[in-house]
Amino acid sequence: MADPLLSVQDLTVRFRTRAGTITAVDKVSFDLAEGETLAILGETGSGKSVTAQALMGLVPRPAGQIAGGRILYKGRDLLALPRSETRKLNGTDLAMVFQDPLSSLNPVFRVGTQIGELFRRRQGLSRAEARRKAIELMDRVGIPAADRRVDDYPHQFSGGMRQRVMIAMAIALKPRVLIADEPTTALDVTVQAQVMALLAELKAEHGMAMILISHDLGVVAGVADRVQLMYAGRVMETGDLREVYERTGHPYTQGLMASIPELNGPRERLTPIKGSPPDLTRLPSGCPFRPRCRYATDVCAAERPELLPLPDRPASHRAACHHSKEVVTDVVTG
Ligand code: SF4
Repeated sequence: MADPLLSVQDLTVRFRTRAGTITAVDKVSFDLAEGETLAILGETGSGKSVTAQALMGLVPRPAGQIAGGRILYKGRDLLALPRSETRKLNGTDLAMVFQDPLSSLNPVFRVGTQIGELFRRRQGLSRAEARRKAIELMDRVGIPAADRRVDDYPHQFSGGMRQRVMIAMAIALKPRVLIADEPTTALDVTVQAQVMALLAELKAEHGMAMILISHDLGVVAGVADRVQLMYAGRVMETGDLREVYERTGHPYTQGLMASIPELNGPRERLTPIKGSPPDLTRLPSGCPFRPRCRYATDVCAAERPELLPLPDRPASHRAACHHSKEVVTDVVTG
């Protein structure tokens, strides 16, 4: 198999809090191939956004610290490179679309100036050329009347249009990997679908690889090739999207699946996962999902489950659960 474009190995991120040190990302590993889309999924506090921050060198210091692991991009360990080197890769190799476009855009500068600034700073273009490129990009991401709106300020755009501006900025320098952190969270359902369709189109057009961070299994279903479910900073299940969605081997994934409404199915009451996401300062022994899990037994309290291939499944489909065989059987028999 060709070397992956990005390989994350045993990434561990810790934060110092008043209540003690927490491990927000706990030995997380995954590969990303050229042109592939990986969705990292989980509830609030699962460690998915901190994983994205670590990839971009944005773990907030001094409270946060990368405590172990490697992030290999084209074979180079980003964590071992000097800051000046990783800064050069941001935008051209790895770029990010943030969760909240309003706080990510500068309210006192016109949108066109903020997009154009990337071309001026990174490619040395003149003000007029940068403005022309900004209009082109705004047009490409579906902002109507881009030649006029280029002079508007962020507050003059709707939430969906602001997210399009953020996407335009992220793809401006044609990155190889686009990381989108909950890109549709603040948007209504119709606009969510438009933004996801735009990301998929741009990915195909530029041949980018994409990491899509989301709490919503439904939102990523039409876009991702592979999924990785996280809980309490750990990977609970990973595999090809269809394989994981149709034949899940983990109670956590099973619970998240049961809470997605089915558009064409019978009207049924949705079943949310009982309990709340874990307090990382007081994780239970063994499996962190144990207090919320209907399959839990004594072994779940005694031993932390490893992420292992599931029986009779492709090797890429792995789950961290002592009782994944029973989960698989339940899913198959309904
Ligand atoms: Fe549930 Fe045990 Fe599996 Fe954890 S290891 S998910 S507690 S069955």
